[in-house]
Amino acid sequence: MNTLKSCPFCGGTKICTEPGINLNYCDNCSAESNVEHWNTRPIEDNLIARIVELEGKLAELIEAADKMYDVTEYILGGDTAEMFYCREIAEEARDVLKGE
Ligand SMILES: [Zn+2]
Repeated sequence: MNTLKSCPFCGGTKICTEPGINLNYCDNCSAESNVEHWNTRPIEDNLIARIVELEGKLAELIEAADKMYDVTEYILGGDTAEMFYCREIAEEARDVLKGE
């Protein structure tokens, strides 16, 4: 038998089963569902999959921003105003992506 997930409405963990009427209910908020549907969370599952996908893309963007930051001096060289401007933009993009 699968472990029952917490309540999708209040997060309560005391989930009771009424086998005679095929019902699970939350002892905290009284949310109820058929036994076979209690652990079904398609929206939550889709959101988790999307978060994993976006975390992967974020990691790629951080890596790209790091490379952009590193390459600005190599490409522009010297102490030009353009170099400082490009490096500042690259640094800002990197910090935003890293949540800093
Ligand atoms: Zn609940």
